[in-house]
Amino acid sequence: PLTSNDLIEEHRICVCVRARPLNKKELTMKELDVITIPSKDVVMVHEPKQKVDLTRYLENQTFRFDYTFDESSTNEMVYRFTAQPLVETIFERGMATCFAYGQTGSGKTHTMGGDFSGKNQDCSKGIYALSARDVFLMIKKPNYKKLDLQIFATFFEIYSGKVFDLLNRKTKLRVLEDGKQQVQVVGLHEREVKCTDEVLKLIEIGNSCRTSGQTSANAHSSRSHAVFQIILRRRGKMHGKFSLIDLAGNERGADTSSADRQTRLEGAEINKSLLALKECIRALGRNKPHTPFRASKLTQVLRDSFIGENSRTCMIATISPGMASCENTLNTLRYANRVK
Ligand code: ADP
Ligand code: MG
Repeated sequence: PLTSNDLIEEHRICVCVRARPLNKKELTMKELDVITIPSKDVVMVHEPKQKVDLTRYLENQTFRFDYTFDESSTNEMVYRFTAQPLVETIFERGMATCFAYGQTGSGKTHTMGGDFSGKNQDCSKGIYALSARDVFLMIKKPNYKKLDLQIFATFFEIYSGKVFDLLNRKTKLRVLEDGKQQVQVVGLHEREVKCTDEVLKLIEIGNSCRTSGQTSANAHSSRSHAVFQIILRRRGKMHGKFSLIDLAGNERGADTSSADRQTRLEGAEINKSLLALKECIRALGRNKPHTPFRASKLTQVLRDSFIGENSRTCMIATISPGMASCENTLNTLRYANRVK
């Protein structure tokens, strides 16, 4: 397993993969595991180990990333190698972003928000909460304490190219770009927070807001990007910002051929934003002056995170281990591979 010796020093973009375990339903359906993580930075997609009559041949494929996490990894462990190294960035006047990317059901929300699946909802173990915990630890350090920083949180959702405030009853918000190319989400609620528990409350509020009023809660959340932000301010001015994003399911490409117009449009919008996101992260990694952030609402809203000297990003690509998901899994791995 990964140890602190494996931590890569100071890189601008970190891309990693996390595979979840087969779940109960998949096990009863005798779903076959086609994922192996043989070492700390390699993931293999292969034929199932069991002898079965395959309807088609699955070619062995190997991918390498900064880190790979197998089914036994915990959120805390994933956090240590992905978002945790970015916490300091925002204290050093930087912009940090952390994305969870993958198909619906692969573990994005489990990783970022915590466990919302069962009756005992617990968001305290998700990367949102773990990041907040460390922000509150960091702010007590003498170096940062003397800066007299204030901490704020926002939580919003981007659905079909529109922004909704999850901390204010899903109010629809406008995005404006001013003359100085500053992008602003007008009226977005920014809540000052004084401790981790207050942040947990906001995550709970936002999350229930995210899924309420929908006939099929998961269907809705899988089509939207959720953005949780921790903002540091000094005398009212932005000092640093950490954006943590639970992206829409990347399998929506299939919807572009759906008979339903709304579904088709949603699918096209998700495709567009995920493509734009890839280009923006690549531009950041290559220090390119032109970041195509206007190509989607998601990248437009995150504009200030893709520019500037002191911006850092990590992407956690989540994958399902089952044979039935292998097409989506390969798409996820190829996308993540090209981000860097
Ligand atoms: P997504 O947000 O990508 O659609 P979820 O995070 O909702 O997927 O995960 C789907 C289901 O799998 C949930 O019931 C979740 O609790 C479970 N799950 C996801 N990742 C893991 C993991 N690493 N370990 C255990 N269960 C997981
Ligand atoms: Mg989800």
